[in-house]
Amino acid sequence: MASLRDRIFIHIGDITRLEVDAIVNAANSSLLGGGGVDGAIHRAAGPELVAECRMLNGCKTGDAKLTRGYLLPARYVIHTVGPVWQGGGKGGAGLLASCYRRSLELARAHDCVTLAFPAISTGIYRYPKDEAAAIAVDAVGDFLEAGGSPRMVTFCCFDDQTAGVYRRTLAGLEEG
Ligand code: ADP
Repeated sequence: MASLRDRIFIHIGDITRLEVDAIVNAANSSLLGGGGVDGAIHRAAGPELVAECRMLNGCKTGDAKLTRGYLLPARYVIHTVGPVWQGGGKGGAGLLASCYRRSLELARAHDCVTLAFPAISTGIYRYPKDEAAAIAVDAVGDFLEAGGSPRMVTFCCFDDQTAGVYRRTLAGLEEG
């Protein structure tokens, strides 16, 4: 089996441009659109996306729901709702890990080979970037090591600073 190093990638840029089977959206629980990456995904996908989202009855924190990608290059959007940062030790870490796992499970159920995540909860929801990256890398690494699809996961970072955090976190994973 290919090592994790060959299956986890860091990309700096706009997730709406990625040609992958599915992109993950850091949504809010209404699933009806918002700011940040959520707004960018809805703008790029076109109005049919919010129409499909309206039929989903929202989404709980830590869970995920899948829609088509409409005008996006990605076939699917997996909408997940991250926790709002409330300081450590309040169950946020478990919920954030659950966002990654539930998204990966949905990607697998829809035979996605390639999947891209934004840095869930690290924008408007204020989760510290290094803690969020550690949770993301652990959850994705564990899931990929168990085998099967998706085969490749990209962490799509909106800026160099976030990419640096992921680079350091991934280096730690490979050493350990
Ligand atoms: P949350 O509410 O979960 O914190 P945000 O959208 O505010 O979600 O931020 C999540 C992360 O997504 C932040 O690190 C932000 O910089 C990043 N981001 C914002 N727009 C994009 C985009 N178009 N592509 C990729 N990442 C983005």
